Amino acid sequence: MKYNRILLKLSGESLMGQQGYGIDTQRLNSYAAQIKQATDNGIQVGIVIGGGNIFRGLSGAAKGFDRVKGDQMGMLATVINSLALSSALEAIGQPAKVLTAIPMFPIGYPYSKWEAIKTMKEGKVAIMSCGTGSPYFTTDTGSALRAIEIEADVMLKGTRVDGVYTADPEKDPSATKFDHITYEEVLARNLKVMDITATALCKENHMPIYVFNMDIEGNLAKMLKGENVGTLVD
Ligand code: UDP
Repeated sequence: MKYNRILLKLSGESLMGQQGYGIDTQRLNSYAAQIKQATDNGIQVGIVIGGGNIFRGLSGAAKGFDRVKGDQMGMLATVINSLALSSALEAIGQPAKVLTAIPMFPIGYPYSKWEAIKTMKEGKVAIMSCGTGSPYFTTDTGSALRAIEIEADVMLKGTRVDGVYTADPEKDPSATKFDHITYEEVLARNLKVMDITATALCKENHMPIYVFNMDIEGNLAKMLKGENVGTLVD
């Protein structure tokens, strides 16, 4: 295997699958199965999940909510998704532990770098919820931060597209995929890989990002074996 420890970012939006809202159990179970396969191969797995399938602070603010309260609602949405994933993992025999950046025991255990590392070394999946724990951030930034903190070898960004393109492939049919691109180019070309804060944090701390389509079953395993199924940003 190419990596020993990974941080996998799953978007909340992907979790809703074909539905317009909430959690699609088929998608959830597919993620759980793929994650278990990675830990079965001896890889330590840390996860950060978004909350966009339930609530986003920015859309709350657009409707007149206080932004900070909206973001807190968004962070709670990530906890809901994290509990769902931990449940799906445990149902197939893969132990998992939900850690929360905002203390809310017994829903989850308070997050710390050391708790996360201990959890992974015990063979459990560490699901780190609440993003960064602060408003005005995204779970992309949360996952960049956690990847760096837990000393992951790579941050994997599971999305609905199979990598980074010259333009939005859903809008521009002539767009081509990069196999490899630098942080500088992502920032200069304003490519929508992750938000600028997350990309900058990875750049400053030399955390490689791998963008791939997690909704195609088997892609995570292929990526971990070193097959080219997405785009490497470093
Ligand atoms: N959020 C936050 N701080 C963080 C991470 C997330 O306030 O560190 C809030 C924010 O309101 C965001 C919501 O949680 O809109 C859900 O996260 P995100 O939009 O990143 O989810 P995704 O797009 O991955 O589904």
